[in-house]
Amino acid sequence: MDTQMLIGSRFETGTETDEHILNPKTGETVLNLPEASFGQIDAAVEAAGKAFKRWSQTTPAERSGYLLKIADAIEKDGQGFATLEALNCGKPINAVLNDEIPAIVDCYRFFAGAVRNLHGPVSGEYLPDHTSMIRRDAIGIVGSIAPWNYPLMMMAWKLAPAIAGGNTVVFKPSEQTPLTALKMAKLLADILPEGVVNVILGRGESVGNALINHPKIAMISITGDVATGKKVLQAAAKSVKRTHLELGGKAPVIVFDDADIDAVVAGIRTFGYYNAGQDCTAACRIYADAKVYDRFVADLSSAVSSIKFNQAEDTENEIGPLISKRQRDRVESFVTRAAEHKHMEITTGGKTSGDKGFFFTPTVIAGATQDDEIVRREVFGPVVSVTRFTDVEDAVAWANDSDYGLASSVWTKDISCGMKTAARLQYGCTWINTHFMLVNEMPHGGLKQSGYGKDMSVYALEDYTAVRHVMINHG
Ligand code: NAD
Repeated sequence: MDTQMLIGSRFETGTETDEHILNPKTGETVLNLPEASFGQIDAAVEAAGKAFKRWSQTTPAERSGYLLKIADAIEKDGQGFATLEALNCGKPINAVLNDEIPAIVDCYRFFAGAVRNLHGPVSGEYLPDHTSMIRRDAIGIVGSIAPWNYPLMMMAWKLAPAIAGGNTVVFKPSEQTPLTALKMAKLLADILPEGVVNVILGRGESVGNALINHPKIAMISITGDVATGKKVLQAAAKSVKRTHLELGGKAPVIVFDDADIDAVVAGIRTFGYYNAGQDCTAACRIYADAKVYDRFVADLSSAVSSIKFNQAEDTENEIGPLISKRQRDRVESFVTRAAEHKHMEITTGGKTSGDKGFFFTPTVIAGATQDDEIVRREVFGPVVSVTRFTDVEDAVAWANDSDYGLASSVWTKDISCGMKTAARLQYGCTWINTHFMLVNEMPHGGLKQSGYGKDMSVYALEDYTAVRHVMINHG
């Protein structure tokens, strides 16, 4: 197992407080990893700054070549990366191997192609004898900070567009899930020039805070909680750094009375509970038309009760545990508070599971209303609420009545109704008759307090480059 941080071309162990890295399936400590000192954070920023001079001047074709090599190397060692990610996050190995690794490899390949195909406005003479052109140039050193729900994928979403755009990076994984980032550090050191990517370890309040306040960091990219995003904005304001924020979500799902209920149930069974619901796009807030509500709740509850987890044979597992005891307790407290209200009913699940690890039973809460906490706040666990509606106007208004604006979906056989409703939803993404599906060609990112950074797609490449105007005087 790789346990050292990457600073320039040096592999170093942190010198500060130990972080216990746990196996969420058992609660046991896998290993302890000390966090970086301020001196080591400085050294990583210094190395990134030194590398920027040369890296920012490489051609798109050169950078594309490096990205393709990174993709190939991850693909070649897919089993190794998947095993480590499954250990650190408690994910079922098949989910990592078959869903995440191919998407991660494809992310690096996408940006390898995209950076050679950036298009822009025409050059021209907007003053007599003067030619103007638009450039898209690298921004500088990006401080990238990732969450624990998809560690290797979030790393790909952050590194690939940043280095494709000619930036250099100091990357900090979540203190809870650093293992695949450390394996990546080894892989990246073998492929990239020294200092283009640096990987440092540590907690948010110490190492993360030092990184976002570092005067030489030009841009901060973070995926995490809304509260963390606000801290990033405060830090960025001091020196007017660029920010790329991907924060939480509370995805509404509108089920019309003409929807294919079997398809909706199958969809929510998968997209509401994937990764144990620790997903900012999770289909967690359902609004079902009163005409289909009873059948939908019954069928969904029955389907969700069959979700396989905590099986000794991991290949049978559909979902894993939550990441930590703290997260499991948080999820449990949401469900306990919901159960105290008479109008809500836990139709399946609702309790912790197993005598070790951080498992929580997949849960459906029926009868929820718009003002209930379970409808308004992000749970980030395997818990889906269902709310009845009789007027479509209410459903759309309730769906939009949220501090979040990341993802949403609409289920109907009437494509015109689907399109009209999608147009009215204030979310970064709306799916029609599906949910959760992402492709590297399309952007992922939110509105409102979900943030405004775009991951994946050419829009990410735009976020990680600066528009510049160059004018030539021919007179
Ligand atoms: P978190 O905000 O606690 O931590 C995210 C990262 O930020 C970690 O690396 C952490 O160390 C760091 N951090 C925390 N405090 C910091 C500070 N003061 N300064 C600098 N860095 C700091 O979130 P989490 O608990 O790891 O992840 C779950 C959250 O992330 C959820 O709210 C979820 O919705 C969100 N999320 C959003 C997306 C998206 O694309 N919008 C994707 C995944 C997760």
